[in-house]
Amino acid sequence: PPAAAAASSSGRVMKTVEVDLGDRSYPIYIGQGLLNQGELLRKHVPGKRVLIVTNETIAPLYLDRTIKALTEGGALQVDSVVLPDGEEHKSMDVLALVWDKALEARLDRGTTFLALGGGVVGDMTGFAAACYQRGVHFVQVPTTVMSQVDSSVGGKTGVNHPLGKNMIGAFYQPRCVLIDTDTLNTLPPRELASGISEIVKYGLIRDAALFDWLEANMPKLLARDPEAVAYAVERSCVNKAEVVAADEREGGVRATLNLGHTFGHAIETGCGYGTLLHGEAVSIGMVMAADMSVRLGWIDRSILDRTRALLLAANLPVTPPATMTADMFKDLMAVDKKVLAGKLRLVLLKGPLGGCVVTGDFDPAKLDETLAEFC
Ligand code: NAD
Repeated sequence: PPAAAAASSSGRVMKTVEVDLGDRSYPIYIGQGLLNQGELLRKHVPGKRVLIVTNETIAPLYLDRTIKALTEGGALQVDSVVLPDGEEHKSMDVLALVWDKALEARLDRGTTFLALGGGVVGDMTGFAAACYQRGVHFVQVPTTVMSQVDSSVGGKTGVNHPLGKNMIGAFYQPRCVLIDTDTLNTLPPRELASGISEIVKYGLIRDAALFDWLEANMPKLLARDPEAVAYAVERSCVNKAEVVAADEREGGVRATLNLGHTFGHAIETGCGYGTLLHGEAVSIGMVMAADMSVRLGWIDRSILDRTRALLLAANLPVTPPATMTADMFKDLMAVDKKVLAGKLRLVLLKGPLGGCVVTGDFDPAKLDETLAEFC
């Protein structure tokens, strides 16, 4: 679906991208200052009560404004719960705090849970909403690049388990995603770059024009130029929405969104969570996948060179930390979710820029060559 543009009530341009999932379809609103436009949020809140879930970093920045947006007009009663910040708190223990608050506040099945924050808050809130009284309404207000271009769209929700990342969860779609691009102004530079790696990913797997645009506009994006940010977020949401609409439960094309993630997860686990951000590990993983694709003869070397140069221009890492050995990669990649019936499947690039495949059908010697090159 193309993005529809309309003037918002503040007079600025607002884009709407529709996620087409039949009777569970929902809009993604993208624009500057949208958090100040309460009516956008309120029209997706069917009941009278809202529980905002956020964290201790985001609450001082955006909680009051979100409460104001919801309570203007006086029809809604809003409660909030502030979680500790960090991937290490994406756990069942911390998730229980959301349900504790909901029960203490006597929230009923007509309640809406609103996620205000990055991917961690969004994934946890969605899962909390999916389970609370067997499912309450859910709205996403993502505040990181990562969550605006990727995690808030598509309905994957969940928490980590000590034995694996994102291993406990549910598919649960929100009723709307409200992206106020102004929230990115407070995001630390490293988090900004980490999210940009997922935008590069859309360029590589299905949107060569976006890749070309990124090559020309990376300095503007890093400088948080509002128009550049809005364009990159919108193009990413269009790509994500198309993929999710075609394959909600990852039976096929949705797996292409995992480009760089199998190498990346191995790096995240091998280095210990917290050393590298998710998008940083994905950046390295995408270069490794591109390198392997060149060795297989599936893409021209220029695509690898351009990918590496673009990621470097975004201040992202392109080689794994020195502690990662080829054996560590092999062990850790073997436990990846994409191993099907004992066979490692990878997302690899194929054909002209913008083409990729998900396959276990490749010469394993080429994987060894790539690992030898990078370790
Ligand atoms: P995050 O949620 O941890 O946010 C990064 C940091 O930025 C946190 O410290 C957060 O408090 C802070 N922050 C958030 N918004 C801010 C703002 N506007 N200003 C200042 N600071 C702000 O990390 P993330 O990169 O947003 O998300 C990563 C998570 O998303 C991972 O758990 C990953 O598994 C998940 N994810 C899920 C999907 C999906 O499809 N559901 C896709 C990709 C990633």
